[in-house]
Amino acid sequence: MMKVGVIGGGQLGRMLALAGTPLGMEFSFLDPAPDACAAPVGNHLCAAYDAKAELEQLAKSMDVVTFEFENVPSEVVAYLAQHVPVFPNAESLRVARDRLNEKNMFRELDIPVTGFANIESQQQLDEAVAQLGLPAILKTRTLGYDGKGQKVLRTAEDVAGAHAELGAVPCLLEAFVAFSGEVSVIAVRGRSGEIACYPLTHNTHQDGILVLSVASDQHPQQALAEDYARRVLEKLDYVGALGFEFFEVEGGLMANEIAPRVHNSGHWTTEGAECSQFENHLRAIAGLPLGSTARVGHSAMLNCIGRMPSNQQVMPLADTHVHNYGKAEKPGRKVGHINLRSQNAEQLQQAITAVQSLLKSL
Ligand code: AMP
Repeated sequence: MMKVGVIGGGQLGRMLALAGTPLGMEFSFLDPAPDACAAPVGNHLCAAYDAKAELEQLAKSMDVVTFEFENVPSEVVAYLAQHVPVFPNAESLRVARDRLNEKNMFRELDIPVTGFANIESQQQLDEAVAQLGLPAILKTRTLGYDGKGQKVLRTAEDVAGAHAELGAVPCLLEAFVAFSGEVSVIAVRGRSGEIACYPLTHNTHQDGILVLSVASDQHPQQALAEDYARRVLEKLDYVGALGFEFFEVEGGLMANEIAPRVHNSGHWTTEGAECSQFENHLRAIAGLPLGSTARVGHSAMLNCIGRMPSNQQVMPLADTHVHNYGKAEKPGRKVGHINLRSQNAEQLQQAITAVQSLLKSL
C-alpha cells in the first residue's frame, strides 16, 4: 500500500482518495475542521496545518505528501520536504499562492497577461489607476478565492478608499480584460518530466464562483494553452496536476491564474476522460506513468452552490453523475457537483439546460 498524505481535507482531498483507493493507495488528511469532508475516505489528522506532532507523523509514515490547497505555510512545506517527497514543490506553492509572483512569472515566460501593479497603499493605488485606467480589478495578493478579496473599480468613487476596503493588505491591481470567454487547461507533469494536458474547458462564473464547465471539442487554442502550460510546468519543475485559467481574447489567450492542484474546472474528467485529473495527479506524484487525457463522450460539470439536489431529483435526468461532498449546506458554499456525459453536443446541451433548471428551482 502506498501511503499518501494530503494537506487539507476538503472535497478535492476526498476526490483524490476516491480516485486513488482502487490503485492501492491509502490516504491521510491533515485538516483542522472536525467535519472535514475527506474524513470518511481516509485517516483524518484533525489538527492545525502547522501542528508539530501531526506533521511529524506525516513525515515519518507517508510515502509521498501533496496538497489540496495552496495556502500552506512555507515552513510546513520546507519541514515535510526534508523527510518525505512533497509534490508539487515549495517553489510552485510560493509562486501560485501570490498573484504578484504569478503575474511576474507569466511575464518572464512571455505568456500574455493584462497590465498589473503591486499595491501596498492607497497612494500607490491612485497612481496605478492613473496609469492602467478604469475599469480595473483590485485583488488581494494572497488568500482570495471564489471572487472573495476582489473589488471591481469602475469610477473614481470606487477607487477612493478601496485599499482599506480590502483590509489594506498587499494587493494587485489588474486592468480589466474585455474577454470573449474564459477557458482553462488541466496539465499534469510526472516525476519523469512527462506532460499530459486535458482538452480545454469553457468556464462560466457567477459572482466570481465557477458555475459551469464544458469540455471543448478541438478548441482552436488548445496547442497554445498547452504550450503556455508546458512553460510553467518546466519553469517550476512541477510535479502533479495544475489548473491554468485563461481569458479568451482577440488573437489568443491571456493568462489569469494558476492553481497548483487539481482544479474545479477539471471535475468533468471523472466520467469524461479516460483517466481523471485526480488519478493523474496521484500517478504523477507517485512516479507512475500518466494515464490518457483523451475525452470520452461530450462532458460538462455544474457546481451545486449552497444547495445540493437530492438523488431522486437528479437521477431521472439524462446523462447525470452525482458528486455529493457531504458538506453542510451554506449560501455560496460548493456542496457538490453534477457531471454530465452525453453522446453528442446536442444531448449535452439538453442535459445542461435540465440540470440548470433543477438547480435554479432549489
Ligand atoms: P480570479 O479569482 O482572479 O480567477 O477572478 C475570478 C473571476 O473574475 C474571473 O474568472 C473573471 O471572470 C473575473 N476577472 C478576474 N480578473 C479579471 C480581469 N483582469 N478582467 C476581467 N475579469 C476578471
